Amino acid sequence: MTSASREAPLAIVTGASRGIGYAIAQELARRGHRLALVARNSKRLEEAARRLAPSPSGVETFSCDVQDAAQVRATFAKILDRPGRLEVLVNNAGVGVFAPVQKISDADWDSTLNTNLRGVFYCSQAVIPRLMEQRGGHIINISSLAGKNPLAGGAAYAASKWGLMGLTYSMAEDLRGYGIRVSVICPGTVETEFSPHAGKDPQRMLQPGDVARVVGWLLEQPEQSFVSEVLLRPTQKP
Ligand code: NAP
Repeated sequence: MTSASREAPLAIVTGASRGIGYAIAQELARRGHRLALVARNSKRLEEAARRLAPSPSGVETFSCDVQDAAQVRATFAKILDRPGRLEVLVNNAGVGVFAPVQKISDADWDSTLNTNLRGVFYCSQAVIPRLMEQRGGHIINISSLAGKNPLAGGAAYAASKWGLMGLTYSMAEDLRGYGIRVSVICPGTVETEFSPHAGKDPQRMLQPGDVARVVGWLLEQPEQSFVSEVLLRPTQKP
């Protein structure tokens, strides 16, 4: 931990080492959260934590593959084995494999579905008992406009994100009675390392901070209500 304040509310962000997840971590640090950053590559995670420091409320890094149930359980047990309120889990870790359906390999199908959908299930299950005990908190899932629309050349990715929409809405129904608010953000194309975005103009793309701002707004919603879905589009088509 770079620095710590046990009183600050805890935020867990998966896929926090770069791109949208890092911007979300920045936004939550700015709002005074204690941060648990999760991704596979520990070196990149530590670099991200160093860039976030000096965050007054503390930053910890946890190397974990969200596809692996045992790793998720062990990692989240460590994260939650500390006093203080868990304010939010942001399920942001994601991968994309882009190829026409006839060319998608079994391995690519599995890694896409296992990261973008199964991983969200594992991470959410790992925090739900704590959120139920607290009778409140947020789970925010980062889907995509590809979770709302067909995507030629992106069948596995779209399938994972459409699945994520169903998982999110159903979790929201299961958990709202406990004061737990489950939301999904569906951004259009964002300028990150995620995919080459061939033929798209980076100047017109959404920026990672645009998504992070929406996460901040969701947390500001008064307790008796929650925003279940946000579709975030660039002003001009990239
Ligand atoms: P990115 O720059 O590629 O970052 C992905 C992050 O997820 C990295 O921190 C990566 O770290 C982590 N990650 C990937 N697989 C993981 C695994 N199995 N376990 C743990 N962490 C893992 O991508 P991004 O553009 O920021 O995308 C973030 C999210 O936004 C994704 O869910 C993506 O589907 C969604 N999204 C992106 C766009 C876009 O155009 N960029 C648009 C809409 C939605 P490691 O590789 O070290 O694990």
